[in-house]
Amino acid sequence: MTDPETRAELVAGVRRWVEREVVGIASDLEHADEYPAALVQQMREMGLFGITVPEEYGGLGLDLLSYIGVVEELSAGWMSLSGVINTHHIAAGLLVAHGTEAQRRRWLPRMVTGELRGCLSLSEPDAGSDTRNISCRAVRDGDEFVIDGTKTWVTNGERAGLVALAARTEEGITCFMVEKEPGPTSGGITVSRNIGKLGYKGLETVEMSYTAHRVSADAVLGGDAGLGHGLSAILGGLEVGRINIAARAVGVARAAFEAAIAYAQVRETFGKPIAQHQAIQHKLADMGTKLQAARLLTEHAAVLRMTTGRADVEAGMAKLFASETALEIATDAMRIHGGVGYTTDLPLERYFRDAPLMIIGEGTNEIQRTVIARGLLQRHAID
Ligand SMILES: Cc1cc2nc3c(=O)[nH]c(=O)nc-3n(C[C@H](O)[C@H](O)[C@H](O)COP(=O)(O)OP(=O)(O)OC[C@H]3O[C@@H](n4cnc5c(N)ncnc54)[C@H](O)[C@@H]3O)c2cc1C
Repeated sequence: MTDPETRAELVAGVRRWVEREVVGIASDLEHADEYPAALVQQMREMGLFGITVPEEYGGLGLDLLSYIGVVEELSAGWMSLSGVINTHHIAAGLLVAHGTEAQRRRWLPRMVTGELRGCLSLSEPDAGSDTRNISCRAVRDGDEFVIDGTKTWVTNGERAGLVALAARTEEGITCFMVEKEPGPTSGGITVSRNIGKLGYKGLETVEMSYTAHRVSADAVLGGDAGLGHGLSAILGGLEVGRINIAARAVGVARAAFEAAIAYAQVRETFGKPIAQHQAIQHKLADMGTKLQAARLLTEHAAVLRMTTGRADVEAGMAKLFASETALEIATDAMRIHGGVGYTTDLPLERYFRDAPLMIIGEGTNEIQRTVIARGLLQRHAID
């Protein structure tokens, strides 16, 4: 575990940076759907591309609690910024947990600086929740594999230089670490579509097709031992992804709540601040309570993952509760603002558009309930 002072220092530093550099321009960048190149450069300088990567590979070597603290701060300013580092950290985490030493040394030192950007490519047009149904294939040809298939929803896919790709091999689903040039094409890889989104703008989420794309056999995560073990590795990584989504939801919910509780004290109707109306007070009470519960569930899941290595039920609970909470708080914050909450003058509409992604991404909340119920039934099984 990272010592609490170091963690608090990092998180406070990011919070100050977000307040100074992000809050004032986030909505403009979002509406322009503009990639925040200057902000990303500053995130690189702060070491945010290698928060949890061990120091021996150049990372900050901090724990998951530090990571989620940073994710909450970034998301409270602009959720898209946390999207820039999320699947990058999942890809780096896959290398740390399952890569060979040669693979770690080859990619991690460039990933931690943000020079080499990572992404995760599991989903396909016909395989989202149903991950076992993927059809992207990798066929061995001597010392190489030939990859064919279509992947979708690849966040950071165009700017990434390293794709953690799930593909079907003879042995089952295998994770390949596919190096590519950032940009619309690289070898047999083509970014076939940039997907338009309700929110979460400013960073790309793309469809990518692979046509007879060749990779060397040493791109298999974990070497030959990793053949057929890609899905379990990726699903393990997605557990961290879910805790990350929960932290993101807490960040958006916090921003919406703070805006609402401030506005409620200055906006007057019927001769008094609306915060004096009981209907508004009850809303604020529910929002504050749910926000606190969401943060505690998220931190609990992170601590469990850090100390035991597994937290599937708790990560699912945190993701489920925090994401539903973010959507509720974003909606209530807008209600509390009345008409002005519906305008583009304030960021409330952005929180309202960003929040639904958290109920879908990294496994929908319907799937979370299935995972949670399965785990609870195992724990409480009656012989
Ligand atoms: C903006 C964005 C970014 C993304 N980024 C990435 C990324 O970087 N990498 C990546 O690999 N993926 C990414 N995803 C994909 C995301 O993980 C999937 O969208 C998600 O897992 C759901 O899959 P689906 O969209 O195919 O929905 P479907 O699986 O088609 O589900 C449709 C509906 O059916 C429900 N459903 C499905 N199966 C069941 C079941 N068994 N029981 C009950 N209900 C069920 C779902 O909950 C949902 O309500 C991203 C998605 C979005 C929207």
